[in-house]
Amino acid sequence: MSGSRATLLSLLVLAAWGCGDDRGREVRADGRLAGAAHGWNVVLVSVDTQRVDRLGAYGYQRRVTSPRTDALLLGAGARFERAMSPRGATWPAMATVLTGLYPTGHGVIRNGYGFPDDLPTLPRILQAAGYQTGAFLNNMHKANHSGWDEFYYGRGDDRRLVRKTHEWIRTLDRDRPFFLWAHFFGPHSPYHMAKLLEVMPGVDPEYDGPIKMGKVALDRILREQIPLDEADLEQLNALYDAAVLATDRNVGRLIDGLRTAPRADRTLFVYTSDHGEELYEHHDYFYHACSVYQTVLHVPLAIVAPGLIAPGTVLEPVVELADVMPTLLDLIDVEAPAEQHGISLVRLLERPDAAGASRAAFSEYDDTAIRTVLSDDWKLVLNPDEIEPQCVPGAPDFPFPIARLELYDLSTDPGETRNLADQHPDLVRKLEQLVEERFAGMSDRGQDQEIPEELRKELEALGYLAN
Ligand SMILES: [Zn+2]
Repeated sequence: MSGSRATLLSLLVLAAWGCGDDRGREVRADGRLAGAAHGWNVVLVSVDTQRVDRLGAYGYQRRVTSPRTDALLLGAGARFERAMSPRGATWPAMATVLTGLYPTGHGVIRNGYGFPDDLPTLPRILQAAGYQTGAFLNNMHKANHSGWDEFYYGRGDDRRLVRKTHEWIRTLDRDRPFFLWAHFFGPHSPYHMAKLLEVMPGVDPEYDGPIKMGKVALDRILREQIPLDEADLEQLNALYDAAVLATDRNVGRLIDGLRTAPRADRTLFVYTSDHGEELYEHHDYFYHACSVYQTVLHVPLAIVAPGLIAPGTVLEPVVELADVMPTLLDLIDVEAPAEQHGISLVRLLERPDAAGASRAAFSEYDDTAIRTVLSDDWKLVLNPDEIEPQCVPGAPDFPFPIARLELYDLSTDPGETRNLADQHPDLVRKLEQLVEERFAGMSDRGQDQEIPEELRKELEALGYLAN
């Protein structure tokens, strides 16, 4: 056994030993979960730009990136192997988590768009149900959120975010449950969290190539299409992994500090990400907003309910971020809004071994007709208007080329490199029909929105409106 493998294993063993099963009760004997967490606290942990395949619990072995997240969240309850985001952009994806609706349905179809005033959102619903609500965000803080008693923006500093979260927890009324949303920014470009780590295998301190932890330098690679060699890509990947590990430490700190929260033993945790990240796998692109591939749309998802859901539960069916809200409301027995595009996953959680009918997962793309659908192992990308999204600020001649039809067999081609659309016209048609049926007649709440000029400038400066 190599030294690094031995270190990895011992870290995982220590992590598993140190937490998870020590939370107290046996898994609920009757196995029924609907309403079983009535009155429990709810903690939503979302990590911006967190790729599934860089987390240890999802099989990443190259470097140790997520020991605490694996132990405290991904291995401590139910982990979903195939959870899908509706869009590779923060605001649309997180608004889906907070509403149970696809972007068209909630209207936050682009970064910068707002929630409709009359839309029931998770914080509004839980606040009305008597919850104390607090949002601690390192992205999307400029949206017109409501339903939060406490609202804090951490200026991109995840460690400060955790500290403020703990301060808030200490002020809470012990007679009422709380709903906490903590959104971490660590793995987002320019991967600056990586600099907090002194040692990360693969990060070359002597490296002097174009990959630098700075937005200007990284943008320049795309804008000027500077070719990257193996050493550059190794540095890019190691930096991203280091940023993931730095975030993992902050996620661990967050959970540690919640052990003394009011009613801590009755706390539901949801861990997820808004989207992943391209690291040069498709069309020489890094970042996320232009991608329609699994590198970006496949996200981690875990639901932890100590005493209710057995640690180490692994669920294979395709699920969507739109399922998070109906599932949470079902668990805590709070009525869901009439209109939900997701479904409660409680039945799946109750009977993880009973394979249900497979579902399809969908994604949208701003106000364009670009859509994706994942059904079993088949992924279809539709771009009927043959739009060429512009992905790099100041580089109008560098589109992210999405074909009119792209079909991938993820069972043999998980990297989505071989377009099989021409070989399987019947399957393409069937998947197209799934998309048509899914979005037919859906309320479009995004069509009349505009981004306020000042906010547009801010988001453009951050590169959020590149496409
Ligand atoms: Zn994001």
